[in-house]
Amino acid sequence: MNEHQDDDRTTLDPVGLLDLTQHEIQALKSRYNLADAHTHQRQSERQRQIVSRLSDLWYEAEEGLQAGYEQKFIEAFFRLHRQPTALAKNKTLLSYAASISTMVAGMFLKQQRMAVTLVEPCFDNLHDVLANLGVATYPLDEVALHDPDRIYAELKRRVKTDALFLVDPNNPTGFTLLQYGRRGFEEVVRYCKDHDKLLLIDFCFASFTLDDPELARFDIYELLESSGVSYLAIEDTGKTWPVQDAKAAMITASDDIAETVYNIHTSVLLNVSPFVLNMLAEYVDDAREEGMRSVRDVLERNRETARKALDGSILEYQEPVAKVSVAWFRVDHPELSATELQKLLYAQGVYVLPGRYFYWNEPGKGDSYVRIALARDPQMFADAMALTRQLLDGHAG
Ligand SMILES: *Cc1c(COP(=O)(O)O)cnc(C)c1O
Repeated sequence: MNEHQDDDRTTLDPVGLLDLTQHEIQALKSRYNLADAHTHQRQSERQRQIVSRLSDLWYEAEEGLQAGYEQKFIEAFFRLHRQPTALAKNKTLLSYAASISTMVAGMFLKQQRMAVTLVEPCFDNLHDVLANLGVATYPLDEVALHDPDRIYAELKRRVKTDALFLVDPNNPTGFTLLQYGRRGFEEVVRYCKDHDKLLLIDFCFASFTLDDPELARFDIYELLESSGVSYLAIEDTGKTWPVQDAKAAMITASDDIAETVYNIHTSVLLNVSPFVLNMLAEYVDDAREEGMRSVRDVLERNRETARKALDGSILEYQEPVAKVSVAWFRVDHPELSATELQKLLYAQGVYVLPGRYFYWNEPGKGDSYVRIALARDPQMFADAMALTRQLLDGHAG
């Protein structure tokens, strides 16, 4: 491009962006933003009913006790996720965003002088938050979890730190231990208990498994509690419902560390907006009543659109275990890297994320992957996929 047509060239050239969030900020300016995994789809028919009652929910939240809205939300959430033990234990702490809960977990690790082994690939924000808090992080290749008979031995061989941090289902791959029934989590917990490791699990994508009969969500907190393992579990609403980022997240700690974690948590925040909790409880209850249809339908439709539009192109669809809200594609091309492909699509207004960043320890491993976000308006998404296919065909072979 020449100088006079461009008064802000930095917005047109994403080179030098340091993390996925910086890419996602750029993408918010693109015509087709398929970068962040936040929810940009419109309301379903049923969700529009909730929106039409927002002023009632607002005034209601002005009246009751904060503790009442916290309880109402947490009950709704764990009922949807079928986690009766988490509900009965009544020790879950709320925050405004999963990253805040992750920060609390990271502050705990820092305070205890623990290094952590974190799954790779994963959303780079987890690594970056930990690193910025001064917590040393070491990678665990997700492959270590791919055979339930080998999980214990692989962890024993690979984990050298006092803490293990998993993301289940994983972002971006959609891998989940739930495919092995109780067994996968049991093996991880058994390893951590036997070797005195703190187990951290990010369940932010868990809602995408709720309607999948192959991934039955058993009472995971019962397993954690009865095993006696030290654990921190993070839950989230942010990637599930289209509520303009009015989200809430949760962290639950095993009894042995609960008081210490509580003391860190209260150094960070007092409470989450009662209005947000009251509103979210409506979305959560609605999802339970309709079996997650509003969430699932748009993701399924866009996943199918992407698969069909790109079938036979240089972007090869990677079938995930859990159908999460992002799709992961392998670039099948002798010369084109994912980073180059990302730039090429970006120049035409389609913003996907290059895979490098998800491999927070070895970016080169992500060079042949891109991630496409699915929580989008289906018409916009279909247009973006049609344009993407056209651009890819221009670069085939
Ligand atoms: C998005 C995401 C987070 C962070 O959520 P925020 O709402 O941005 O704080 C944490 N973990 C996973 C798996 C995510 O996808």
